Amino acid sequence: MACSPSERAGETSTVETSTVETSTVETSSGEPESRSTTTAARPSSPNIEIVVHVSIDGLRSVDVVADVAPTLARLAAEGTSTLNARTDADNTSTLPNHISQLTGRPVNGPDGHRVEANDADIDTVHRQKGSYIASVFDVVHDHGLATSAFVSKEKMSVIDRSWNETTGAPDVTGSDEGNDKIDEFLYGEADLVANAATMLLARAQSGYVFVHLQDPDVAGHADDWGSEAYLDVVKATDLLVAMILDEVEANPDLAGRVALLVTSDHGGTPDGAGHGRSGVASNFTIPMILWGPGIGPSGDLYALNNGVRTDPESSNPSIGASEPGSPIRGHDAANIVLDLLGLPAVPGSSFNAEQNLALGSRRSVLNSP
Ligand SMILES: [Zn+2]
Repeated sequence: MACSPSERAGETSTVETSTVETSTVETSSGEPESRSTTTAARPSSPNIEIVVHVSIDGLRSVDVVADVAPTLARLAAEGTSTLNARTDADNTSTLPNHISQLTGRPVNGPDGHRVEANDADIDTVHRQKGSYIASVFDVVHDHGLATSAFVSKEKMSVIDRSWNETTGAPDVTGSDEGNDKIDEFLYGEADLVANAATMLLARAQSGYVFVHLQDPDVAGHADDWGSEAYLDVVKATDLLVAMILDEVEANPDLAGRVALLVTSDHGGTPDGAGHGRSGVASNFTIPMILWGPGIGPSGDLYALNNGVRTDPESSNPSIGASEPGSPIRGHDAANIVLDLLGLPAVPGSSFNAEQNLALGSRRSVLNSP
């Protein structure tokens, strides 16, 4: 369970055990009692207090290589990642998959958020579902941390419409932070979005930053996925991520505090057919890259989560989040973010709702049993 931010603020350094297998025992050096550890403890990184979640619209996993996307390839190499994560099992469109990333829910089924259409006219997520759908913004905000969303497609404004001062749920967690779950929301071109995120990070506020960069999708629709024009745009988008990463690495106020999660909403095909066919591997195959203090460098996310998740190879199995054989999906993003921040899972979510995905040598200090 998570503590309030003020409680967390007292924890200045932590000790973690040295292997994944025994990392369930963690102690805070600020606590008076000592706990036994099963292996020699080593000093760990400070707590992660800021998570930047970058979704690159239409990014194919095959382009996360050094000569196309050197920043993403570096993050993948230094952190823990898989290039064989999955979109939703039934849907490879932008808006449905982003709502899944932010709520930890599938599109369809009993737990589904029901945003099935890739439509700018959708009023709110709650109206689609017929009841309130909590998001990663709800949990971060209600625990008193800052939240922001910077998006580069108009249709993504449903995010702001769904969790604003009139549509957001009352805050019943700790002190009342108000109903508006997203402190800063911006819709603009991708370079503006990346700039806004970078400027926000410069303020070094604890919390969650969601960044949506649309350009690879636009280039894919115009010139096909894998075309020279598409690859040029992926390279340019990689530079926007590099700008954000530069701030994280150069700003001393951010040292040891920031984790990055990079994923995408879908891939695309080189045959002029876009990305709408949910059964096509190049559409449903996406990256999931995690980078930050104490994350990795254990490499492959499936290897780290053997027995918890299963590499789907070339399939996209339509099975529940907690069933054996479930792949890692973009939908896991919400509860990975919260786990990294030491906060509980999104209410009503199903993907990584137990926050039991291993992320490398680090397990969340506060969520560890
Ligand atoms: Zn598209």
